[in-house]
Amino acid sequence: KQKGPGSLVLFEPRMAQDVHRRVRIAKDLHNGIPQGELRMYLQTQADARGRCVGAEVLVRWQHPKWGLVSPAEFIPVAEESELIVRLGDWVLRRACLLLATPALAGRGLRLSVNVSAFQFGHEDFMSSLEQVLQETGANPHQLTLEITEGAVVRDLDQARTRIEALTRMGIEASLDDFGTGYSSMYSLQRLPIQELKIDQSFVSGSHRSEKDAALVEAMLLMARRLQLRVVAEGVELSEQALQLTQWNPDIVLQGMLLGKPLPEQEWLSKVLGVDQG
Ligand code: C2E
Ligand code: CA
Ligand code: CA
Ligand code: CA
Repeated sequence: KQKGPGSLVLFEPRMAQDVHRRVRIAKDLHNGIPQGELRMYLQTQADARGRCVGAEVLVRWQHPKWGLVSPAEFIPVAEESELIVRLGDWVLRRACLLLATPALAGRGLRLSVNVSAFQFGHEDFMSSLEQVLQETGANPHQLTLEITEGAVVRDLDQARTRIEALTRMGIEASLDDFGTGYSSMYSLQRLPIQELKIDQSFVSGSHRSEKDAALVEAMLLMARRLQLRVVAEGVELSEQALQLTQWNPDIVLQGMLLGKPLPEQEWLSKVLGVDQG
């Protein structure tokens, strides 16, 4: 919607609905988190040989009326307030509890947890992270935090200080949705991250479009020179997996080809063959 200078924003019915919906989401989520309505889903991350090396943690919301709600719907609303901190704390705690179980700890599998900009920049973030690690007994060396450009751009100095602190703790930082931000190279230059997560918008065309292929190949070359681990997200086809692993045999693959996100218990039994009570 184009807005000329000094023009009034007319409140269309569609917008009003939207605002109502967001207010409703915020209110229900506020009550739903303590009610135990959040669910942890896991999506396999695998090496070039297809062996599971860990998973990305993806949150879902089991709304009593609406059913299972996608994070695309409620994360942006949660990000408008401190709700995202409570949600983020819940996810981090659940992930660390799982990391501490023999099923994951024994196999040295990694869990990758999404951290929102507001959550990452929050004054209590580092102390609550330390507390969660201590209380759950999770091994920080098996934890990766996925951070988006947004988190970094807000305050680059703070982001660098925090990532340095994470590194000292043994936690790895991954730059999520790499290539889609305004200043990916700038962030890369300034931040001591250990992993790049190539966005699915590049991965999806990499096997058929010369342009996408060139971009992905360049990102992989750059990552190798910088000694960064690379995760490719949204891998749906075997052609894509083949192409990516030819370029970088150490690449980690994630996407429908390897498996869709599954509820925690189902992932444990289907992927690891572990049945927990
Ligand atoms: P993301 O971090 O980019 O996560 C990847 C998204 O791609 C996930 O969507 C995943 O289900 C989807 N995906 C995975 N493989 C494929 C594939 O092969 N093809 C296609 N088309 N899509 C695939 P999801 O689970 O709906 O999550 C959406 C976004 O919500 C995430 O994007 C992330 O930004 C955010 N999110 C999810 N969980 C959390 C969380 O616990 N905390 C925060 N702050 N954000 C979260
Ligand atoms: Ca992510
Ligand atoms: Ca991503
Ligand atoms: Ca993405």
